[in-house]
Amino acid sequence: MNLFVPKRAFFEPQALEYPLGKELYGKLEAMGVPIKLTGSHNRVTGLPGKTPQEAFREAKRTMAIGVRKSTDFASCKPSAHYQLPLNTSCPSMCEYCYLATTLGKKPYIRVYVNIEEIFSQAESYMKARAPELTWFEGAATSDPIPTEYLTGLLFKTIEFFGRHELGRFRFVTKHDQVDTLLRARHNGHTRFRFSLNAAAIIEKYEHATSSMAERVGAAAKVAKAGYPLGFIIAPIFYFPGWQDEYGKLLEALDRQLPNDARSDLTFELISHRFTKRAKSNILDLFPETTLPLEESERKYKYGQFGYGKYIYQPEVMAEIKEFMEFKLSSIFSQAKIEYFV
Ligand code: SF4
Repeated sequence: MNLFVPKRAFFEPQALEYPLGKELYGKLEAMGVPIKLTGSHNRVTGLPGKTPQEAFREAKRTMAIGVRKSTDFASCKPSAHYQLPLNTSCPSMCEYCYLATTLGKKPYIRVYVNIEEIFSQAESYMKARAPELTWFEGAATSDPIPTEYLTGLLFKTIEFFGRHELGRFRFVTKHDQVDTLLRARHNGHTRFRFSLNAAAIIEKYEHATSSMAERVGAAAKVAKAGYPLGFIIAPIFYFPGWQDEYGKLLEALDRQLPNDARSDLTFELISHRFTKRAKSNILDLFPETTLPLEESERKYKYGQFGYGKYIYQPEVMAEIKEFMEFKLSSIFSQAKIEYFV
């Protein structure tokens, strides 16, 4: 997987008052990335692209560097207590990206340079919940790995939580550029998760991400570095040969994961689902998509806020659940399946 090199970058002038802002400016300038100033990282305008597809692709090559002004963190129930805001969006183009409906048509990448202020806010949340542990999620609005080689934000965050007894950190990625994080002093306080799928699904729908084999290889390195490890297998599709494909994924993990990483492993399992809004976004951005998006084949599940989702029929769901639970319990008998939906 190649490193992400932005085609253009925008800096908020205020970002240049922070050490990371200055450092990023120097790095991007030396890489020959065209740089402009912008009034706000939230309102970058004038990006090229005549069609929605072009505008989307250009945005995915654009980086905005700013200061995260709001000091409040969004809640991240039920997986963690708070979202930890490090960055927003990512350069990959998964057709079913979970951020597609929240980030709009131009999901350019934002990184926040006021990391010390973000950490002190995290500290106050931890204090307020003491002596209970407080969990923070670092990938609620992004995949934080592709920009890590430029920002070092994850490394700093992992070490920050490594020093705090009452804070725990988790994030998830579809990328394999993990080497710089292997030497971080995590102290077992960060759960490093990989989002996985069958190799054929990744190849078809997760554009500009690492392959299944690359992610599994990266997970093995992370396990050897002593991190608690987790996997999200999502979205799980039901298609001819699905059992073979998902079986091969779990067998690849089995071949590579060291034995001592298996006693503290988590799996999150999410079957494929979509909302009407997500379907319309996908068809705008990927008009040729082959994703299964036929409402009449699905069961409609009413949602909390008036918009429901189309999930697989109950018998299909039961079949997927039974197969995945059976395979996981036979290969990774000590692993915890956090949920299946
Ligand atoms: S890697 Fe994650 S955040 Fe990036 S496009 Fe894919 S699903 Fe979205």
